[in-house]
Amino acid sequence: MSHAHISLKNLRKTYGAAVAVDNLDLDIEEGKFIAIMGPSGCGKSTMLRMLAGLEDASGGDILHQGRRINDLPIWERQMPMVWQSLALFPFLSVRENVEFGLRMAGVNAAERKSRAQVWLGKLGLGDYAERGIDQLSGGQRQRVALARCLVTEPSVLLLDEPLSALDAHLSVQMQGELKRLQRELGITFIYVTHSHSEAFSMADKVVIMNKGRIEQAGSPEDIYLRPATPFVAEFLGGSSIFDCTVRPRKNGDLVLESTDGSFRSNAVKTGGLVPGQHVSLVVRADQISITPTAGWAENEVPCQIIGEEFVGALVNLRLRTGAGTEITVQLQQRDMQSLDLEVGAGVTASWHPEDGHIIP
Ligand code: ADP
Ligand code: MG
Repeated sequence: MSHAHISLKNLRKTYGAAVAVDNLDLDIEEGKFIAIMGPSGCGKSTMLRMLAGLEDASGGDILHQGRRINDLPIWERQMPMVWQSLALFPFLSVRENVEFGLRMAGVNAAERKSRAQVWLGKLGLGDYAERGIDQLSGGQRQRVALARCLVTEPSVLLLDEPLSALDAHLSVQMQGELKRLQRELGITFIYVTHSHSEAFSMADKVVIMNKGRIEQAGSPEDIYLRPATPFVAEFLGGSSIFDCTVRPRKNGDLVLESTDGSFRSNAVKTGGLVPGQHVSLVVRADQISITPTAGWAENEVPCQIIGEEFVGALVNLRLRTGAGTEITVQLQQRDMQSLDLEVGAGVTASWHPEDGHIIP
């Protein structure tokens, strides 16, 4: 029988009356890079700590290769965790820090030393073995923490916002190294991050959590192009989300009417929808274009420009419809210049119907 590498079934964690993780189900395949995202306090760290064995589950099962591991102690789980504060021992050398997990497992001194040296080498720290932790840079410490976990050759590595204490440049460099390590070693990474760019550039699968539950789990492309819920679309940002009602045309076709009455959209994918149904229509900021003329056709929304923000070669425009709904548009700076528009100007926003993503 084949099993997911790790399965969480109905996993739950409560602190008194507060629910931190709420009957969560998740399957994780072996050798994949999984990114976990969600607002602060949604249960990401609690989930990871239950996997690591640092926290008992209040209910449900944690399965590893089909075997229930809820009651296994930390050192028998083989799922070490790296986090931002690293928890390196300042009174031990770099090598002794890396040897620590092997010492706990009863490996003899000679083998400990040679295995630690191998991993320090793989992480570019071969020449730093005898240094103290306080003689290392932030990025080097991060690598020591990784070496200390990897030296025990786990099949899963848990990472809780490991790069959030590094500066932007170093963080990007470490992202590349982490991804390379994960590919080379073929081990499963479960990686909690608040950074969209980290999640979307590194992960094979992205999991979006909200209030202790999973809103959506899928490939980065799936999540980006087809958010399953308004929460996911909103959390990712960069989209306008319209409340709409499904209406029939005289010929029987369906059309979306925005609840605020500001537009109708001849959305193409109306299969499965019924007249009267409420849906959310998500349109990404880069899929909306604007013209300075008034328009009242389908997929055209008369708006006023209420704000602009210049980001490199791009301009983010905030528009407001007559009914007060906000729309976000992203344009090339040169297109904005050729339109010659200012805050306060009236414009028409429009999009191709096939670009609108409908969430029932
Ligand atoms: P995240 O990592 O997504 O920011 P956490 O998993 O740390 O969220 O926390 C989830 C929820 O559980 C939060 O509401 C938090 O306040 C609560 N929580 C976490 N740890 C404890 C604890 N030891 N005692 C009580 N509540 C806790
Ligand atoms: Mg956390």
